[in-house]
This record gives sequence, C-alpha cells and structure tokens, in this order.
Amino acid sequence: MKTALITGSSRGIGKAIAIKFAKQGYAVAINYKNNKQTAKKLAIEIMQKYEVPCGTYCADVINKNEVNKMVDTIQNELGTIVILVNNAGISTQKMFTDITEDEWKSMLATHIDGTYNTTQAVLPSMLYNRFGKIINISSMWGVVGGSCEVHYSTAKAGIIGFTKSLAKEVAPNGINVNCVCPGVIKTDMLNIFDNETLEQLKKETALQRLGTAEDVANAVSFLASSDADYITGTVLNVNGGYFM
Ligand code: NAP
Repeated sequence: MKTALITGSSRGIGKAIAIKFAKQGYAVAINYKNNKQTAKKLAIEIMQKYEVPCGTYCADVINKNEVNKMVDTIQNELGTIVILVNNAGISTQKMFTDITEDEWKSMLATHIDGTYNTTQAVLPSMLYNRFGKIINISSMWGVVGGSCEVHYSTAKAGIIGFTKSLAKEVAPNGINVNCVCPGVIKTDMLNIFDNETLEQLKKETALQRLGTAEDVANAVSFLASSDADYITGTVLNVNGGYFM
C-alpha cells in the first residue's frame, strides 16, 4: 500500500495533512514527539472514518537513530513511503539578543536536522522506486524574515535552500521536492500571541482572515498529486496574501 509519512502530525497542520491523505486512500504514518494520546486518538479516527491503515510513531526528528528506526518500522508495517511531509516544528518569539545558545541550536535542529534526518531515511526507497514526493513545510517568515524570530526565520529559510538543492539532485530519479510557506495559521503554535496581535495579523492579511490547517493541507495535497508532476523546487505561499 502507498504510504504517506507526515512528521509532527499529532495536531495542527500535520494532523490536517494526515486526514487529507487518509481521505485519498493512503496509508498514513503519524509521527509525534510527546502527545501520544492525541496521536492515538487521531489514528483511531482515521482508521474508522476513512478505512485506511494508520499507525502512530514516536520519534524526535532531531534524533537520527529514532528517525531511522521509525522509517524502517513504517515501511514494514504500512508499506513503502511515497509521500514524505517534513512538518514537525516549534516556534518561540524572542529578541535576538535574548536567544540562548540552547534555544538557537534546538530551533535549527528541529527544523533543519529534522528535515535532513527524515529525508535521508526515506530517500533510498524513493530512489529505488524512482518515485516520490517530498513536501517541506517552511514559513512565510523564512521568506520575508520575522522580527523577534531570527532563529525561526533562519531555520525556515534553510528549508527553502534544502528544498531547491535536493529538488535539482533527485529530479532525474523521478522525485519531486517542494516547499510550502504557510502564513498565520490557527494552531497551537499561535498560543504565544494575544488576541490583539492575532487581530492585527488578520488585518495585515489581504484575505482578512487567519489561515486554517486545512488551507495548508490542500496545498500539500496538490503538490503530492500527479497534477503537480511537473512542479519541483517550488516555494508555494499559502498566506492569504499577507505578502505577494
Ligand atoms: P503545532 O500545532 O505546534 O504542532 C507541532 C507538531 O510538531 C506536533 O505534532 C508536535 O508533536 C510536532 N513536533 C514538534 N517537535 C518535534 C520533534 N522534535 N520531533 C517530532 N515531532 C515534533 O504546530 P503547527 O502550527 O501545526 O506547525 C506545523 C509546521 O508548520 C511547523 O513546521 C511550523 O513551523 C509550520 N508553520 C506554522 C505556522 C502557523 O502559523 N501555525 C506558520 C508557518 C509555518 P507533539 O504533539 O508530540 O508535541
């Protein structure tokens, strides 16, 4: 069975992406770091509603051994991974001068090392099959830069460079690598903002609303589909016109 692995899919954008692929008949691998119960509940919902195989896999994407083990287990239990969505992420708001070395390293490790670890684990089977779709979740702040988010913006900009370089390298092998840059999307990640800030962000968005996890999932689903077979190395903004 064709399998989609979505890192960080216990909640938020990853959860919406997992549901989107389940609706299309893919076996779905849900990865999480801490929220076992939430991940398990989602897996049960997916299996009951969409009647596709679905498993939950605990792995910290920063940890290469855990990721390798997870990918082996998924390929044995669910089947070949044909879609990989590198989505797991964290965010914090801090003045640059207050960012500690640990916070800096943790931000880059989660996004950059996480994307490296998971992609390197999944790519060999994609190369063998001469097919695969890799979609990396960056952020609009990786494109335009975010004040008080230098560590986050740096990591997300790195993901764009990763996407374009790998896209060129593996295109001859039938593998597409693309990137989605969400704008302000209503998930737990926005809990760091007060209502006033969220209202302001809404006003600054051309479409005058915050995005939903489903808005992002729709874009990911398109890039994973055969409709996007001729698209690789692209950066797709899903930001409601926050910037153009
Ligand atoms: P979220 O609701 O906070 O969910 C984060 C997910 O990532 C959770 O499933 C979490 O697992 C997982 N995760 C975090 N660190 C991990 C690690 N080291 N290893 C494995 N899993 C890990 O965040 P979200 O808003 O859905 O964000 C998803 C992605 O979109 C992130 O890359 C984020 O940077 C990006 N993004 C979000 C927005 C936005 O406005 N929300 C905008 C632009 C880009 P647990 O549940 O186990 O903790």
